[in-house]
Amino acid sequence: MSNKKAVVLVSGGLDSATILAMAREQGFDCYALSFDYGQRHRCELEASAEVAKTLGVLEHRILQLDLRQFGGSALTDDTIDVPQSLGDGIPVTYVPARNTIFLSMAMAWAEVLGALDIFVGVNAVDYSGYPDCRQEYIEAFEKMANLATKSGVEGNHLSIHTPLIDLTKADIIRQGTRLGVDYGKTLSCYNPDERGLACGVCDSCRLRAAGFVTAGVADPTHYQG
Ligand code: ZN
Repeated sequence: MSNKKAVVLVSGGLDSATILAMAREQGFDCYALSFDYGQRHRCELEASAEVAKTLGVLEHRILQLDLRQFGGSALTDDTIDVPQSLGDGIPVTYVPARNTIFLSMAMAWAEVLGALDIFVGVNAVDYSGYPDCRQEYIEAFEKMANLATKSGVEGNHLSIHTPLIDLTKADIIRQGTRLGVDYGKTLSCYNPDERGLACGVCDSCRLRAAGFVTAGVADPTHYQG
């Protein structure tokens, strides 16, 4: 079969587990990349390792990149509380430049691996207006990547795949369920406890729980209490 390689950004959440399964289905040999960026919830990284292992990646790297040195987000700064519900505008869970930073690292690893494909689980439908989850942003990044690398200049076109970009949470869950993803191993909560149990009330938990209901799939999330 094919020996196409892809770098897949894996956070440990529901979306990235799904794209990993989709990349596998498309015949890619997958290299999972996660970031220890100082996120509040360390259990996210344990979930990413579990997801990567279960879905058969060739290699899983966790890069240390402490974004708490800048802060500026409820996910990287202890002085900013994670909101219980969405307000107007871009929420405080937005992490400054996160996808640009992560995609840049993925681009570097892809060039070293000789991979011409990167998968990222950005989603424009359910996700609160994060500017780095938009299609036009991804297209601009792809164009930049092909100008930025030796591989690109030599005519090897790098593609950024965003198979979830226009899907609802329920659509994503249906896709992943079809591909056998065990969502019980994923973690989406912004506020899990130290055992990695989801709070059930943050934006991310509510979006996820509603997705299972709409998809008609039993919710395997491990909740607190
Ligand atoms: Zn939660």
